[in-house]
Amino acid sequence: MTISAYRSRFPGLALCARAFSVSGPNLYVSATLVDSYNRRHDYLRISLTERCNLRCFYCMPEEGIQLSPTEKLLTDEEILRLAKLFVQSGVTKIRLTGGEPTVRKGIAGIISGLNDLRPYGLQSIAMTSNGLALHRRLPEFIDNGLTHLNLSLDTLDPFKFEFMTKRPGLDAVLRTLNIALESPRLQKIKLNVVIVKGLNDSEVLDFVEITKDKPISVRFIEFMPFTGNKWDKFKMVPSSDLLKLISEKHAGVVRLSDEANDTARSWKIPGYQGEFGFISSMSDHFCSTCNRLRITSDGQIKVCLFDAKEVSLRDLMRKGASDSEILRTIGQAVGVKEEKHLHMEDIDVGRASMVDVSNKSATRRSATARGRIFISERAYNLINASYSSESDSKTDINSSLLNEAEKKVLRKGDTLTVAQLAAIMGSKKTSDLIPLCHPLLLTDIKANLTCEVIEEPRGTWKYSVACQATVTCEGKTGVEMEALTAVTVGLLTVWDMLKAVAGKEMMISEIVVSEKSGGRSGDFTRT
Ligand code: SAM
Ligand code: SF4
Repeated sequence: MTISAYRSRFPGLALCARAFSVSGPNLYVSATLVDSYNRRHDYLRISLTERCNLRCFYCMPEEGIQLSPTEKLLTDEEILRLAKLFVQSGVTKIRLTGGEPTVRKGIAGIISGLNDLRPYGLQSIAMTSNGLALHRRLPEFIDNGLTHLNLSLDTLDPFKFEFMTKRPGLDAVLRTLNIALESPRLQKIKLNVVIVKGLNDSEVLDFVEITKDKPISVRFIEFMPFTGNKWDKFKMVPSSDLLKLISEKHAGVVRLSDEANDTARSWKIPGYQGEFGFISSMSDHFCSTCNRLRITSDGQIKVCLFDAKEVSLRDLMRKGASDSEILRTIGQAVGVKEEKHLHMEDIDVGRASMVDVSNKSATRRSATARGRIFISERAYNLINASYSSESDSKTDINSSLLNEAEKKVLRKGDTLTVAQLAAIMGSKKTSDLIPLCHPLLLTDIKANLTCEVIEEPRGTWKYSVACQATVTCEGKTGVEMEALTAVTVGLLTVWDMLKAVAGKEMMISEIVVSEKSGGRSGDFTRT
């Protein structure tokens, strides 16, 4: 890093000789980009668009996706403003991605705008592209400052290419690859290959062969589940199986040392120019060394690909926020980045494990959940009624007029009281029921069940029992699961109590967490 770059990042700091004598990755990352696990985020991925000119089945539905209106997307100027703030805070590498970044009109200008950030410390400008429409424009992008290119290509067979991407185009991608290989100013070319069992796993050795006389890094990526992408664990080939296959053909494969924060584990066949590696997001994960942040094309900051939380930097900018306000928001988002992405562990890849909370401190946490069971009018009246031998009021029921089923319900006891006790007991059993839930010492459980009648628009009535439970603890993890279990068990108990008279009509629904407080993810109230 140059002295001027250091100054522009830390305008208030006096320079000292020692600061410049130390070198190494991430050295100058400002506190804004350091999370509570001391991970320094010096790598920013910017999505330029949601659009794509291919339809890889594992990524996009064939009919495309619902696109955001253009005015919701970041403008070129907004992208460059955010990029500058991130670079001034310590980002040294920016990757342009998408959707397909090359379909964004202003991409050439964005690359040169990023190139202007080099004096502030930006070292590499990378792009991940499917390469379909890149061959003609790649030289211009390299002239403008592009230094690293990842091309995505899953097959060398034109028919399979069309089958996997729903468009023809293998030739165009290979043309891009050749132009990239003839461009000495590109510092690194990587080929991303998503492996899907039964589809392209038979081509693994062919891809490895490309590294023989080309200085390229082929990375086999484990097929990951995203909403609706037809993922199933049998389509995933663990990286260990691929390595075994490659090692059987090439006895002397050599493990290379990992680049700092690299998500790939790399290997080389002696005498080959290039290398190959594995990105095993499903069977391994890199959370402990994660240095990545993402900005979506509509301007949300995402601190983890697998975390749904997003914070809109676009809205902040459009409300006229100053640079320091934007940096404060970025710092808050980074500060609450989870230690690791939990969702992967919930997926059955044979590696389920609880989250280690030994380093967390115990704090007061509480959560409220609610839900409802719809019941028949008759069941409703049974719960509400008092019983007399001669019915003379609207809510009284003459017990001699009850049928057998109704008597059976009444013999079980008071529905709401039994369900309330069940909710409290259920809550205490949560960790026995939900495999990865931690046992918690609960300090209070309140469960409340009430009968409710709701008038429908057409003058009809819906009868229900609503259940609400609030659970409190002094603990290291939240008590949402305990509150949800209380409500669920309470409502199931209502079902059990009333099934003799209303088994077919009942429906349990609307179970949600309505409030939560305590813990690092902050307080929450469902509106
Ligand atoms: N369109 C560009 C491309 O394909 O390179 C950039 C965006 S694409 C989402 C980035 C990378 O994610 C590609 O290498 C793609 O193969 C990979 N990818 C997309 N869906 C995936 C999935 N379900 N599992 C594993 N990798 C996936
Ligand atoms: Fe997704 Fe990239 Fe394929 Fe487009 S080319 S569908 S963005 S993986």
